[in-house]
Amino acid sequence: MELELLGGAREVGRSALLVDETLLLDYGLKTADPPQYPVRDPEPDAVVVSHGHLDHVGAVPALLKGDRRPPVHWTPPTGELARTLAEDTLKLHGNSPLCPFGAEHVARLGEVERRHGYEEPFAVAGGIDDGGYEVTLFSAGHIPGSAHVLVDDGETRLLYTGDFHTDDQRLVAGTTARPDADVVVCESTYADVTHEDRAAVESAWAERVERTIWEGGTVVAPAFAIGRTQEMLLVAAANDLTPYVDGMGVEVTEMLRQYPSFLRDADAFDEAVGRARVVTGRDGRRERIAGENALIVTTSGMLAGGPVHTYLPEIRTNPTNLVTLTGYQVEGTPGRELQERGQLELNGRVRPVSARVDSYDFSAHADREGLESFLESYRGARVLVNHGDRCEAFAEDLRADGFDASAPGTGEQVKL
Ligand SMILES: [Zn+2]
Repeated sequence: MELELLGGAREVGRSALLVDETLLLDYGLKTADPPQYPVRDPEPDAVVVSHGHLDHVGAVPALLKGDRRPPVHWTPPTGELARTLAEDTLKLHGNSPLCPFGAEHVARLGEVERRHGYEEPFAVAGGIDDGGYEVTLFSAGHIPGSAHVLVDDGETRLLYTGDFHTDDQRLVAGTTARPDADVVVCESTYADVTHEDRAAVESAWAERVERTIWEGGTVVAPAFAIGRTQEMLLVAAANDLTPYVDGMGVEVTEMLRQYPSFLRDADAFDEAVGRARVVTGRDGRRERIAGENALIVTTSGMLAGGPVHTYLPEIRTNPTNLVTLTGYQVEGTPGRELQERGQLELNGRVRPVSARVDSYDFSAHADREGLESFLESYRGARVLVNHGDRCEAFAEDLRADGFDASAPGTGEQVKL
């Protein structure tokens, strides 16, 4: 087996891993201006996608150009999310020559997709007996539909972790599957981080939100559309809060209700969704809601766009109000600027924000301890670290701990 790392190696974003020039695992898009794609335009016989986040699935329609029609394998929620993300990319970049696909390529997803449940092996590129592979997806505990991908060519078993979490979230249970493998390509997003106990993060957040509302303030909780918005609705419901919900997360929430078996607790999810009040942007409704004593969960998570840009100008000058950042803020994003400098660019002008800004770690990735506990099951395997800002340092630590670990870079090939 031979691997080529086309993206997401020693970096986060544009994940793509090519196996034997034949099977492509993930084909993501890195958010930047302009967006970045994997380093080469491969022509695989088949594609498997680990989960429905932009950096893993965002460029998949570009694989369907001309008469190319490789089957694309994924779970049902991942298939739905792939479409939602592709349509959003077209909205944002569709008119740019740098957008690598058009509406016609997105429409072809229906033609090529193959949906699979967890732990149901399927044949790819002819199957093991015909020089191809057997592939199995295992729940990865990251977002609904997220998968570890096990690829077996009859000689070598490759486990591509995708993004994963070892701890339970309210939306999805943590990963427990540890299938045998000879090689593990392991994400390392939070290799440097120890998450605070989730229950403690939750109660600190809920307490701060309640107090702000009691004091007469408004709370804006920016959240990623996929995963985080739904997690925040569940956390709000569990703490007896009744949020407004706005942005692309609303559509994703509705979609996920169609796939209850991919949720940790479908009844709790229904209840949380039923409790939330959906906002549409009609007739200055957002401006009015911003003046209420209310909690508003809205996209985008890093403040790069979305309805949050209508709420923030309304609430920024009053120190009684609160902004709770609920996820990692990447360097260079408006969210990071707000977190570090207490200011925000609104309509082209940098404005100070007097509202209180707090950050809470509602992560959907394993932390250092989680990564180590996961890899403990793979002491005899070769470990390739990817998807992180400090992949090489983590690989070095693993080597010091007795692992056969390395961190090849984007563009490199690895013979197994
Ligand atoms: Zn992800």
